[in-house]
Amino acid sequence: MIHPIVKFGDPVLEKPSETITSFDEDLKKLVEDMFESMYAAHGVGLAAPQIGISKRVAVVDVTFKYDRRAKLVLIHPEIIKKEGRQRGTEGCLSIPEFREEVTRAKAVTIRAQDLDGKFFEHTGEELLARAFLHETDHLNGKLYISHISALKRDLIKRKIKKLVKAGEW
Ligand SMILES: [Zn+2]
Repeated sequence: MIHPIVKFGDPVLEKPSETITSFDEDLKKLVEDMFESMYAAHGVGLAAPQIGISKRVAVVDVTFKYDRRAKLVLIHPEIIKKEGRQRGTEGCLSIPEFREEVTRAKAVTIRAQDLDGKFFEHTGEELLARAFLHETDHLNGKLYISHISALKRDLIKRKIKKLVKAGEW
């Protein structure tokens, strides 16, 4: 099932998500829905709070369906290693139409659980490293605009306020 993407302004996006206690069929269904919703929105990553569900799970596919092995389910992800720096444009499905330059680590190792609750580690570079950091931030109630200057962030927030007023957000 495709869920609508929750947009900036909804408090679910700015609070830490809750721990998952059972690795059951409901969780599998949620992950399926998240992949479906992410592809429908043309994203390369999606965290559960972005569909209004405050749980520590995210999905990532930086190949956009091209490589089936690139589909990653991240439950309780934690960044355990960061190396180097990359500068690049970043956006978020919950803040549509806006993009900003964000400096991130170039290589990132993540530790997470899979759908069976098994722990694994995965190292990603470039876009995948950026996705790991972006999605883990989401589960901590943090958005990418917290990594840009206050000036740019306020400008985006002002523009969003106008869009909300116009009924376009
Ligand atoms: Zn995002």
